[in-house]
Amino acid sequence: MTLSIDFDFRREIQEFNFSLNHCYQCATCSGGCPVAKMTNGRYNPRKIIESAILGLRDKLIVKQEPNVWYCATCQKCVEQCPQRVELTEIFDHVKNICVMEGNYPEAYKLQGKSVFEQGLAVPFNPAILRRRQQLGLPEIQTVPIAEIQDLLIELGFDKIIHRESKKEGIGE
Ligand code: SF4
Ligand code: SF4
Repeated sequence: MTLSIDFDFRREIQEFNFSLNHCYQCATCSGGCPVAKMTNGRYNPRKIIESAILGLRDKLIVKQEPNVWYCATCQKCVEQCPQRVELTEIFDHVKNICVMEGNYPEAYKLQGKSVFEQGLAVPFNPAILRRRQQLGLPEIQTVPIAEIQDLLIELGFDKIIHRESKKEGIGE
C-alpha cells in the first residue's frame, strides 16, 4: 500500500491539539485499551496517533485503518499516557473530519436525523411505550423540538443531516 503524507492535514491536526507532538509511540495506550483487547489489536489507538503525526489522511479518514469510530471514549488511554497526549480530543477531531466527508457509520447518521427531528438519540418504539404503560411509568415528556432545531441549525447540523438523507435516501 502506498502511503502519502498530507502536510495540510498534519498541520491542521497538530494545531488542533499540540499534545499530539509529545507522543513517543510507547504503546501504553494500546496496551491498556479495552477495545484493542476485544478486537485482538485490530483497533489500535497508538496507530491512529501515529497516522496523525505522519499526516496519513487517506489512511485515517478514507480507509479508516484503524477505525477511529471503534473508540469507546472511556479515557483509559488518556489517563495512562506518560506524555499526556489527549488522544480522545484528537480522535474527536478526526471523527469530525470524517463526518464532514460523509464517511461515518450508518447508525450515527440515523441517530443524527432522529435528534434533529425528534430530539431523541434513541427514539422510543411502540413496544417500549407499551411496556412503560404496563409498568405504570409516567408518560414521556416531549422536548421543545423547535428550540433544539434552532440550535442545531445555528451549528449547521441540519445541512449535514439533509446532505446524508439525500445521499442515502433516508426518510425520503
Ligand atoms: S501512550 Fe501516549 S506516548 Fe505512548 S503511544 Fe500512546 S499516545 Fe503515544
Ligand atoms: S478512549 Fe478509546 S482508545 Fe482510549 S482506551 Fe478507551 S476505547 Fe481505547
